[in-house]
Amino acid sequence: MNDLDLIIDLHRNAERQGPGGDDETRLAVTLSGLGAAKGLKIADIGCGSGAPTLVLAQALDASVTAVDFIPEFLQQLEIVAAQAGLGDRIETLAGSMDALPFEEDSLDAIWSEGAIYSMGFANGIKAWRRFLKPGGILAVSELTWLTHERPAELQQHWMQEYPEVDTASAKMAILEENGYSPVGYFPLPPRCWLENYYRPMQARFSEFLSRNGNSEAAAAIVAAEENEIALYERYADFVGYGFYIAKRS
Ligand code: SAH
Repeated sequence: MNDLDLIIDLHRNAERQGPGGDDETRLAVTLSGLGAAKGLKIADIGCGSGAPTLVLAQALDASVTAVDFIPEFLQQLEIVAAQAGLGDRIETLAGSMDALPFEEDSLDAIWSEGAIYSMGFANGIKAWRRFLKPGGILAVSELTWLTHERPAELQQHWMQEYPEVDTASAKMAILEENGYSPVGYFPLPPRCWLENYYRPMQARFSEFLSRNGNSEAAAAIVAAEENEIALYERYADFVGYGFYIAKRS
């Protein structure tokens, strides 16, 4: 297996592929003001196996197109959506977030939890804006510095891994500069990282390693994740995901 196949293997049966929480998705829905609208068209970009997609389809009168470039995650979402009786509200689309097939001005909301980093926050919000109806909602979670200053070790790690990491005020300025009005922001609580994402992942490590013959490549993936987890545990006061809700202006 190559590295991508290994990463798929580690994450495909997980409930979520990134930090997040159902309550936090619902909080973002509340802040979005979409609650009472009927017949919404929503895209969930980088949906993974669709933990946020399911909440959107439950909480809103909406049809949700769930997009990811890993078909194995979409297959998992289809199974869970059918079990939850939400199959008729959720459509999956295998494709890349930087080449979306939506029509201009066609979506009431674009949702993306823990995924926009893949094309970069600024690139993503610029590229996706045209798919939103005027007044449409963008809701994304994005790696965010929680304080003005932070320990050097943490700074160095994330500047290497994701140089676009920045404070909430800087992210909001990028939204404003690119034709969005911020309508809400909150940082995800540590529970969304630890209980909902890292702990379940750690519980899968030993089976993942034995399933893959304890290969060097599999061990390297586990070591990198353990390193990131230890860093998060040390510095959860300084870094996290910010959830940004903004309106196309
Ligand atoms: N939103 C989900 C998954 C977050 S993990 C959740 O909150 O649980 C990030 C997801 O983005 C992964 O499923 C990954 O396959 C997807 N992804 C990363 N880069 C992508 C790209 N360029 N195009 C489409 N999907 C992408």
